[in-house]
Amino acid sequence: MKIRIRQNYRVEVFPEEPFYKEKDPEKLHQRMMRDLEILKASIERHCDIGDACTSYDSEEQCSFCGIRWEIDKETKEPACCNAAIDEFQKENPGATLENKEVE
Ligand SMILES: [Zn+2]
Repeated sequence: MKIRIRQNYRVEVFPEEPFYKEKDPEKLHQRMMRDLEILKASIERHCDIGDACTSYDSEEQCSFCGIRWEIDKETKEPACCNAAIDEFQKENPGATLENKEVE
C-alpha cells in the first residue's frame, strides 16, 4: 500500500525586492542577505516554535547577455554569446579551437 509521508515542514518567506534595483550583483546580494537577517531576527523574536534559517538559490549567468552560463563541450568556450567568447579568448590566448584540435 502506498502511503504519503509528509516531512520537512517549513514556512518560506520571500523578502520584497528592493525598490531601487541595485545593479552590482554583489551589493544586491549583501542587501538581500541583510534583509533576510532582519526577517529571521523578527521571526525568532515573535515565535518560540521552530528554527529560522536563511538561504538562497544561485546560478551562474553571463554578464553580457544574462543567459545561464554554460561552456560548449567541443570548443570549451562560453556557449551563449560572442561577447563572452571574445572575453574568453582575450583572457585565454592560444585556447582557440584550432589549437585544441591539434592536441
Ligand atoms: Zn552571453
